[in-house]
Amino acid sequence: MLSLIKLPRVFTIHQVPKVFHEDSIISGYRHPRSSATDCILSLFQLTNETLNIWTHFLPTWYFLWKLLTVVLMRDVWSDSFTWPLLVFLMSCCVYPLASSCAHTFSTMSTRARHICFFFDYGALSLYSLGSAITYSAYVIPDKWVNSLFHQYYIPIAVVNTVICTALACYSRLGLPYIQYNHHSIKRFSECKSPKFGKFLRILAFALPYLFDNIPLFYRLYLCVGEGCTDNDTNALHHTHIALAFLTAFLFATHLPERLAPGSFDYIGHSHQLFHVFGIIGTHFQMEAIEQDMVTRRPWLLTYSLPITFTNTLGAALLSVTLSLGIIFLFSLPLLWSATRGEHTEKTQSHPIAKGCQYH
Ligand SMILES: [Zn+2]
Repeated sequence: MLSLIKLPRVFTIHQVPKVFHEDSIISGYRHPRSSATDCILSLFQLTNETLNIWTHFLPTWYFLWKLLTVVLMRDVWSDSFTWPLLVFLMSCCVYPLASSCAHTFSTMSTRARHICFFFDYGALSLYSLGSAITYSAYVIPDKWVNSLFHQYYIPIAVVNTVICTALACYSRLGLPYIQYNHHSIKRFSECKSPKFGKFLRILAFALPYLFDNIPLFYRLYLCVGEGCTDNDTNALHHTHIALAFLTAFLFATHLPERLAPGSFDYIGHSHQLFHVFGIIGTHFQMEAIEQDMVTRRPWLLTYSLPITFTNTLGAALLSVTLSLGIIFLFSLPLLWSATRGEHTEKTQSHPIAKGCQYH
């Protein structure tokens, strides 16, 4: 029966257009005009994307299970103190799911690839906001509770998600209709100066991460005296931070494949490790958040800012709406050309490596 299913063939880096190239990955590329069925079939075939997909698809179910546990075990409808945790867990389901979908369908076309990763960036910025909402509710040290910083922390985090999504989308192609349009889909930054595009993307995710963690960094590394919330949860927070920095290091350096190009094409390249350590980091972050939530609950309910719909689900919904608007703006020239330029793309369906301006 299995022999009736013909798995699509894979290609080397020299056989696919430059936009699909991954640093120091030589083989295992899927066809750059794969059908949706081929993309789904590739889940069960070893390509250089297979483990990228599974390392985020399986954790989606783990976080979904955690979310359902919270919904079923806690009184989430009347206990607003649980809402920040709900938002965080929802963002923990969305970001690996968006990522695994992006990695699955990114080889359907050049345009699909860009749009897929725009959604991936939007989901990551939502996760960043989810973290900020829980930090404001459960993690912020006693000393900073009700401070001016605390009052403006979530509004600034919402603004950061807009900046993060826009900057990450910009890092792929530049500005829609100004630097790319339906006539020319040039890989603005990553082609002309690949390091600049990568730098912008790292900046797009590092900025909100560093901002969101200001209260935690203060609590763990700078605070002295009373009100520092020096409790047992700090060990979990330290583990999460160490894993977050390891994740960023892997993303930025492309190690280990840069040391031996071609040796880690299928198993063990930096993007897979980036996914795995990112998820383990999120797991420890979730454990820390839940522990702070439970142990600090009585004190926080008495002294902290009230938890409302506005500063939890409302902020998340606003952020999702704004991010989707940004993704739509960046995708519009690609969507428009997808119908107008269908013929052009079909005539170029052979997997032949070309320069950046292959459209
Ligand atoms: Zn990824």
